[in-house]
Amino acid sequence: MRHVAIIGSGPAGYYSAEALQKLFGDEIRVDVIDRMPVPYGLIRFGVAPDHQSIKAVYRRYEKVALSDNVRFCGNVLVGRDVSIPELVGLYDAVILATGAPADRPLDIPGGDLPGVVGSAAFVGWYNGHPEFADLVLPLDAPAAAVIGNGNVALDVARILSKTPAEFVGSDIVAHAFSRLGNAAISDIHVLGRRGPHQIAMTPKELGELGHLANAVPVIDLADFPPLIDDALLEPGQRKSVTHLREFANLAAGKAKTITFDFFAKPLRVEGEGRVERIIVEKTALDERGAAVGTGEIYEIPCGMVVTCIGYKTPPLAGVPYEEDRGRFANSEGVIGGGLYCVGWARRGPTGTIGTNRPDGYEVADKIAADFADGDARKEGRAGLDRLLESRNVDLVTFRDWQRIEAAETARAREGSPREKFVAVEEMLRARR
Ligand code: NAP
Repeated sequence: MRHVAIIGSGPAGYYSAEALQKLFGDEIRVDVIDRMPVPYGLIRFGVAPDHQSIKAVYRRYEKVALSDNVRFCGNVLVGRDVSIPELVGLYDAVILATGAPADRPLDIPGGDLPGVVGSAAFVGWYNGHPEFADLVLPLDAPAAAVIGNGNVALDVARILSKTPAEFVGSDIVAHAFSRLGNAAISDIHVLGRRGPHQIAMTPKELGELGHLANAVPVIDLADFPPLIDDALLEPGQRKSVTHLREFANLAAGKAKTITFDFFAKPLRVEGEGRVERIIVEKTALDERGAAVGTGEIYEIPCGMVVTCIGYKTPPLAGVPYEEDRGRFANSEGVIGGGLYCVGWARRGPTGTIGTNRPDGYEVADKIAADFADGDARKEGRAGLDRLLESRNVDLVTFRDWQRIEAAETARAREGSPREKFVAVEEMLRARR
């Protein structure tokens, strides 16, 4: 019997568990460890609450979690309750599937003013992540700036724009639903430091902006290269750029606007004790496609700045780390010494949820090859249980999670699939 610990119960974690299960059948025991008492990581805390069809992938992970040889170990913080060297001592392989839940900071003057928030915090807030429940957000000013031209910037702009009725069917948490419903924001600026051809937004997500009940996207066709140049784009990107161009045909007259400011590099954030404006420099692309300042400077009055400029994996004591790329140092998922990594912890924060699947299968093959070189002598879950018990760790099982989930479903407001518990204590109480 072989024992594998996976740290992180998001997509990368469960695809790895699925791959191991398929490869080893009943010859393996997998423990999926998560610091939260609830599973699924990015699916619960990252994917936008109005994208339920994307979230539905959790049903696939649930199947894996319910099998006899895979176990969910929630409410266990690696680094506090158990260390990496201890896990390596107990398991034949340890896979880090910890994602990239930390914001890359916006390193400009004023980037630390109250009212500048990272997307991890903002998204965590509307998705009910316990760490961000008390986030202070200035939603009282009429304008907000969203920095970045990726899908997260789109999520943030869309969530800020929707009417309460458009959240029917979503699982946005109660505190965010009510605060967003009363927010004064009507003018949202999405800032890209490069141009329309350099966006990192996918067509489906971009297309959604054209169908909002009370908000309209605004672009300036003068920012676009000649139409004929779109033919040079890869088909997906061409579709996205076509959506952008079509925004020019939308009728104005809705209460909110989402204005795309292209070639706009944030220089500094200003305000008396809170965000009042962002100062931006117009850019042009150099021959390598990088944004260079033109010296033309303008300001956008706004009361909140949400930075959507990418994420990083928090380092773990004893695990080699690549500071510049914000991920664990690894060679194709292998860290060494019985440690492996998958997903954003391996590759950095790019790709869709499905991109994590091949990662999981690849690492399972690598583990199988490494197992072939040695004997099975590790204790696995019995050893972990003993350790956690001696440290009074309140382990949450998948059965517990099912009770929590049932309670969330039972208390959902009409039209919503669930009303998530936000505080860890509430989650722990709900399993009884
Ligand atoms: P992303 O796709 O890497 O986009 C980051 C954006 O931030 C880019 O436009 C980048 O511009 C910009 N940026 C980086 N540093 C900057 C700076 N210092 N100043 C100004 N702009 C800066 O990252 P993401 O939006 O966080 O998304 C992460 C991953 O999750 C992506 O793969 C995304 O597709 C995925 N995702 C998917 C969905 C969905 O499918 N519905 C939803 C959310 C996220 P440059 O290009 O100039 O560097």
